[in-house]
Amino acid sequence: MSGQVTVTIAGAGALGLASALALADAGARVTVCDPAEPGANASGVAAGMIAPAFEAVLDPAARPHIEVLLAARDLWAELAQRADIALRRDGAMAVGEDAWLDTVEAGFRDLGLHAAELPTAAAQALAPGLAERPRALLTREDWRLDAAQALARLRAAAEAAGVAFRREAVRDRGDADVLVVATGAAQAPLAPELSILQPIKGHILRLPAPWAAGVTVRGQGAYAVPSDGVITVGATMEAGVADPAVDPAKAAPLREAAARLFPDLADAPFELSAGVRAATPDGLPIVGFGTEAGVILATGARRNGWLLAPLVAKVVTACALGREPGPYAARFNPRRFA
Ligand SMILES: Cc1cc2nc3c(=O)[nH]c(=O)nc-3n(C[C@H](O)[C@H](O)[C@H](O)COP(=O)(O)OP(=O)(O)OC[C@H]3O[C@@H](n4cnc5c(N)ncnc54)[C@H](O)[C@@H]3O)c2cc1C
Repeated sequence: MSGQVTVTIAGAGALGLASALALADAGARVTVCDPAEPGANASGVAAGMIAPAFEAVLDPAARPHIEVLLAARDLWAELAQRADIALRRDGAMAVGEDAWLDTVEAGFRDLGLHAAELPTAAAQALAPGLAERPRALLTREDWRLDAAQALARLRAAAEAAGVAFRREAVRDRGDADVLVVATGAAQAPLAPELSILQPIKGHILRLPAPWAAGVTVRGQGAYAVPSDGVITVGATMEAGVADPAVDPAKAAPLREAAARLFPDLADAPFELSAGVRAATPDGLPIVGFGTEAGVILATGARRNGWLLAPLVAKVVTACALGREPGPYAARFNPRRFA
């Protein structure tokens, strides 16, 4: 391709916006189209954990991909600085029954990662309000951000870099040199590779907690992310469910999980929201050219869309501009399930 490459991006979630910024910074003329309200997507409701270690230890689908997750995490420092996104690097801590913690500790060891054992007082100092527990396991490998802030800042940085935004659905590549399909779990008729995606709906709670501070807490079957007077507790994994509507019945188990970790949350008011993740059979996203000419896929990031966003953006940008896409592009190849 000669001259300035023109790119249309379908989808203004974490993957679409991170790709838009990277492409604009690399000299492409970029338009992002999305029919939805900004932030009304999986990216907007997410907990914002940038969590290679605990995701690999706790989620069997993520475990084989630890080095990809760590590489993506490492790209966050530069992206956060570029888009003025607050990145918290103070870590995450597992709390729970002894037998479960032993399994978690073994999971860290098997992956060549380290988790430090903490007595209860040290754990409570790192997460004020935490229920008394005999021991906890802390890692500094996991970071986090505020998803709503990150979406807004990515969009602002992209706009400042010259990216145009349109509130409309994309139906085809149109006149653009390249179409990037970053439509999350939507079964948009934009590329045949999207049919491989499975929806996994997730409900998540946000509870006001003026005292909230400290590190992310990973419990048995739930996590709690304290920040700026709010604790975010998640999340359900509802495989096969694509309808993003909030189901009030999902609040009770999440509230119980919140109170088990932070007893003061037992009667706290709460806000329940839901989003739909897109998953592939092997737990990694589909990123790169598919079978349709000029169409690049950038979706299927399952539970780790925020974590993976800078790495996905890097591969998308390299593909769009005909550059070397780096060591992880083959793992993301959209044609690998053909
Ligand atoms: C409850 C919950 C908690 C989560 N917590 C975390 C976490 O802590 N850390 C983490 O890394 N990940 C987390 N995730 C996963 C993460 O949110 C997703 O992997 C990520 O948001 C996917 O981003 P995306 O850009 O691919 O899709 P989305 O954010 O879903 O965005 C896709 C966009 O495409 C638009 N679109 C659809 N069709 C079209 C079309 N035809 N034309 C134009 N636009 C279209 C949609 O309107 C939407 O805005 C969580 C997910 C959920 C549900």
